[in-house]
Amino acid sequence: MFVIPCPFCGPREEAEFSYRGDATAQRPPADAPVQAFADFVYARKNPRGWHVEWWQHVGGCRQFVKVLRHTMTHEIGGSAPATGSLDVPPS
Ligand SMILES: [Zn+2]
Repeated sequence: MFVIPCPFCGPREEAEFSYRGDATAQRPPADAPVQAFADFVYARKNPRGWHVEWWQHVGGCRQFVKVLRHTMTHEIGGSAPATGSLDVPPS
């Protein structure tokens, strides 16, 4: 169990949140080949170290937030609203 600092509600238990995926994946342009869209939807990296992720605060404000989490230690490096950005430290 770890604590995620919601930018709207403050620090809350991870149980109040739902993981929503990789926040670094970029949607391909509209004229990209089908395989690029398939990779965008289905192919996921399994990074080791700091990673920016989407989390939804389903037990609170229901907002989507970006969370910087270390995938090995579950340490939280920060959070930001969906339109914000997070600086990823070197792993
Ligand atoms: Zn919240």
